[in-house]
Amino acid sequence: MPQLNPIKIRFYGAKDIDRLPQLQQLSAADRMAIKAVAQVLPFRANNYVVEELIDWENIPDDPIFRLTFPQGEMLSPEHLDKLVWHINHSESEDLHQVVSTIRSHLNPHPAGQVEYNVPTLNGDRVPGIQHKYPETVLIFPTAGQTCHAYCTFCFRWPQFVGMDNIKFATRESGLFQDYLRQHKEVTDVLITGGDPMTMKARHLSLYIEPLLGSDFEHIQTIRIGTKSVAYWPYRFVTDEDADDILRLFERVTLAGKHLAIMGHYDHWKEIETEIAQEAIRRIRSTGAQIRTQAPLIRQINDSSQVWIRMWQEQVRLGCIPYYMFIERDTGAKHYFDVPIIKAWEIFQKAIQKVSGLARTVRGPVMSALPGKVLVDGVAEIFGEKVFVLSFLQGRNPDWCKRPFFARYDDKATWLTELTPALGKQEFFYEHQLKEILEKGQ
Ligand SMILES: *Cc1c(COP(=O)(O)O)cnc(C)c1O
Ligand code: SF4
Repeated sequence: MPQLNPIKIRFYGAKDIDRLPQLQQLSAADRMAIKAVAQVLPFRANNYVVEELIDWENIPDDPIFRLTFPQGEMLSPEHLDKLVWHINHSESEDLHQVVSTIRSHLNPHPAGQVEYNVPTLNGDRVPGIQHKYPETVLIFPTAGQTCHAYCTFCFRWPQFVGMDNIKFATRESGLFQDYLRQHKEVTDVLITGGDPMTMKARHLSLYIEPLLGSDFEHIQTIRIGTKSVAYWPYRFVTDEDADDILRLFERVTLAGKHLAIMGHYDHWKEIETEIAQEAIRRIRSTGAQIRTQAPLIRQINDSSQVWIRMWQEQVRLGCIPYYMFIERDTGAKHYFDVPIIKAWEIFQKAIQKVSGLARTVRGPVMSALPGKVLVDGVAEIFGEKVFVLSFLQGRNPDWCKRPFFARYDDKATWLTELTPALGKQEFFYEHQLKEILEKGQ
């Protein structure tokens, strides 16, 4: 098992694109396109992704290549041409301007993330926290707002290019504890990013350890959202503080709480290496559970075969499939998006092929402004073809599990493109949603 030897992470960014030997097989124009897109959208790969995950015999089609290396088609041809011209003429001031203009065309702030979900404590906004559904609070530790590599479709891309001036991130683990002390309805804390597993163990423990104390008996579950299990599994096996991480996990489970590692895997290729499987074994040995989630992305995992193999492999390794998401409306959406109907077809074809232990997965799901909306399927009601939808989570919890109907639309890719079916003027939740959002402002 040679790859289980400790290795140090090496990051690759835009400046390495001409130097990476693996990219030499591309034409100069294709390399230039990667370089150009990497000016606009964040690009970061690492030695594990480059050397172990990407099959360089199979580029540009290799899914992990498309997952981490920007592609020219992610921008419109006009934007790409303009960028290439400015790079070649190296007028950096102009380039900067062109880059910001293109970024502003890529919907950097979808789904009311910034405006609506930041809570207040004694009248002041608490940065670094999101509280959308009563039982779960999200925390974004400052030091965890980066990843071991970046996904080309990432909906948090504005924060990686320094564009988000409204900071979610907070150093104030104290403030977040005060908030939780006042909110006894909260049972789950979800530590997220970026990727909180980019933090050192001693730093991560500043956020976790206090929650094991007697003030926080109402917190039953701590979740950590992470892509490290796929992008840098050495984090749990051979990194300098890998054992400290495992001991921290163990303290959570020994304190009688549930620790859920919410692992982001986009493709079965990411769980088939020796090191990735060893990471899973070590995490599970602490009593933590691994739940898995991923968006459905064209060019990367838009076939039921990919999901079948991924879910089967995950269940075999003791992971619990949790969500299949529909890609959000941001960034290079036109390159990655899959129509709602296609997403449902892929899900339906995949779910019928796996055992009940993999059918814990819910999807396809849109995490949208009113809540998490599940696409249950397609039906015909009084001769009208409709999408059957329901809430898994709603800004008003009472919206959950009430089926509602949208007109069938084979092009729609997001909730906002759907219209009510059966002669209704608006969806059943829309009036209340307006009230809730007005009150929350
Ligand atoms: C998905 C999500 C949660 C967690 O919802 P579960 O149904 O418990 O998985 C919490 N907060 C936000 C903002 C979310 O998008
Ligand atoms: S791991 Fe998550 S936060 Fe990080 S780049 Fe990928 S999608 Fe974005």
